[in-house]
Amino acid sequence: MDDSTNLGYYYCFNCNDAGKHKENPNQATCDICGSTDCVNFPHGFTLNWSEIDTLSRISTDKAFILSMDDLKKHDVIEFNVKMAQFNQQKALEESKPRCPRCGSTAISTGARGVNYLWGFIGASKTVNRCSNCGYTWKPKR
Ligand SMILES: [Zn+2]
Ligand SMILES: [Zn+2]
Repeated sequence: MDDSTNLGYYYCFNCNDAGKHKENPNQATCDICGSTDCVNFPHGFTLNWSEIDTLSRISTDKAFILSMDDLKKHDVIEFNVKMAQFNQQKALEESKPRCPRCGSTAISTGARGVNYLWGFIGASKTVNRCSNCGYTWKPKR
């Protein structure tokens, strides 16, 4: 690739898309939405879309994304270890049950109607309770 024509790339947090700089690579402005909330990659980047997507869910700190790009360039093993952690964190966030009333993830799941005298009666019935608003509901599964 010819460096003189390569103005680098940007990734826009606002439209979650990346583009190639047309003009000044030091001024990251999204060509699509005009947002300046973009990460600037003046020399291109090694991250792929799904990696950027994962990272931007963890943090929209530009320095963080740039340092992860840098890490992938220089230490791909360490990078993969970190990405595995982030993916795990992301999956955990997404799998968390949310309160249908207030959307809080501060949910405690407990068995309802477990009676030690009556043993199994009702023991399989679990209930979710929101620690935020106190709402209780049956889990879907
Ligand atoms: Zn944009
Ligand atoms: Zn709630």
